[in-house]
Amino acid sequence: MEAKRELLVLGCSSTKDADPAALPALSRYQGPSYKVFHNFLRSSVWPSNLSVAVFSAEYGLIGGLAQIYPYERRLSRADALGLVPSTKRTLLRWAVEHSKIMLWMGADYRAAIELAATNEIERKIEFFQGGIGEKLAGLRKYLVERSRLRVSHWKNTDRVYEYFLPDWDDTVDVDFNFRTDTFSAPKVSGRTQVHGTAYMSPTRVCDGILVSLAQQSGTKGLFRHAAATEKSSLYPEPIREKYGLAEDQLVFGDCGAFSYSSEETPPISPKQAAEAYQLYGVDLAASVDHIPVPEINVNGRKKRLSQAALKKRVQITQENAEEFILLSRSKRYSFEPVGVIQGLEPEDYGKQLKYYVSLGYVRVALGGLVPRGDTGILEILSAIDKARRELSPQKRSSLRIHLFGIYRPKIVKALQECGATSFDSASYLRKSWMRSDQNYLGVDNQWYTAIRVPCLSDKRNVNRLTEFHRSRIETAEEAEFEALAALHSFGQRRIGVDKTLKAVMRYYSMFDFDKFDVEYMEPLFRRTLESRIWERCDCKACKEIGVHVAVFRGYNRNIRRGMHNTALLYKGIRGAR
Ligand SMILES: [Zn+2]
Repeated sequence: MEAKRELLVLGCSSTKDADPAALPALSRYQGPSYKVFHNFLRSSVWPSNLSVAVFSAEYGLIGGLAQIYPYERRLSRADALGLVPSTKRTLLRWAVEHSKIMLWMGADYRAAIELAATNEIERKIEFFQGGIGEKLAGLRKYLVERSRLRVSHWKNTDRVYEYFLPDWDDTVDVDFNFRTDTFSAPKVSGRTQVHGTAYMSPTRVCDGILVSLAQQSGTKGLFRHAAATEKSSLYPEPIREKYGLAEDQLVFGDCGAFSYSSEETPPISPKQAAEAYQLYGVDLAASVDHIPVPEINVNGRKKRLSQAALKKRVQITQENAEEFILLSRSKRYSFEPVGVIQGLEPEDYGKQLKYYVSLGYVRVALGGLVPRGDTGILEILSAIDKARRELSPQKRSSLRIHLFGIYRPKIVKALQECGATSFDSASYLRKSWMRSDQNYLGVDNQWYTAIRVPCLSDKRNVNRLTEFHRSRIETAEEAEFEALAALHSFGQRRIGVDKTLKAVMRYYSMFDFDKFDVEYMEPLFRRTLESRIWERCDCKACKEIGVHVAVFRGYNRNIRRGMHNTALLYKGIRGAR
């Protein structure tokens, strides 16, 4: 396959951001060529075929997203020669994937790169020519030719209540064969694996995706800390494509505060968060909060936090929100900053709302709601409402309030009346496989039990077989196959409910499911089969895989069912507008 990407290599600059925390190389340097790039990202999302690397005296040739610390060093000719061997190794690896290598740097740096290049690589190299002004103009032109304009998704929204789906890497194998129950390839890396929201297209399941920084800042995921010379440090994973988002759907970045709630302070600074948000091109970006959880984990031990420690967390959250909005103004980031509010008492929330609005926030998000009951949440929202009513009419009407992590059907109307304008929740997705008997939401608004056909290729399920059947595994496997075959035929209306249920129960009764025993589950399974409820749904999952969407087995069925549930939840929310 011919390489399609182009690699842009920028020479490091002496002007740097002095922030002592690690920053992506592209954010660390502040010289003229970097300013051009930063400016470019204000109006364009990252071009789809562009890789960016940095060549520096301190680090050699590294990806533009590699995290680096501040340093003081100018490249001497001797330094440049010293960097040749490592540069050569990196270039050799990277060149394979790139059809062109564009150099934007001074003569010394360029000489080092050229010395490191083999003949084949040299043929791919081009450089920006002329004096500094000409070179900058050339870079600007180069980028503009590849730009993909940002749409200001959030600016013209007339949605009354927006729903965001939090991302937990819920992917499916698009080409999974449901008839033969086989994956498109033995290894996950070989499969046509896409995120559930992208799979569901054109069925829409949400107004946007909530992506967390901290939860994903390990070695995997969107905001990973890429190793300096890894290919993945050359460009951000394209978020909108990953989730298959339409232009009017939003990417909402947050910090995943639960993942670091046991730390004394958040592991990311407002600037680190902001730079990551900007590079990845999120539409809405949450300030860095710290949840005042009553209990934390210290070296595996539970520790209760004092009142003072809790207050400190609320204060950290507030200070970070102050810094975040100042930064987003001075750096003219393209995202809309969202001020996260944490509090101990309902009044805290109200007081802070007014303060955040005075800072300039038009979007705020309320954290710390998840562990609270409906009454507790309503108390907070009524304090918020009270504060909201004291704002000027103009500020009040533009204010948008997000509720982190909660969807409470019983109080949703009341929440909206108090000013809530959006929320995120994965509960309808999770119910698909977390709940025992409410797994599939029907178009009749009733919950149905998914039909369980445990997968024996999963060792955990083998262990759940009764001892008798564990010792006769072939018989169990045969029953598993027959249950699946019966369900498939049932889906095609070739056999009836009784015959199908018989095959399903013969297999199911080989397990020791304790609470969910045969007597309990059989009538629930029958109800699902008799309803043929999936035939009345026009979502992508139900249309494409039919009866299998109601089968509880493996991620390909379970996540598709979860996405179906989410699509119905979303439709309901939209319909209620
Ligand atoms: Zn459906």
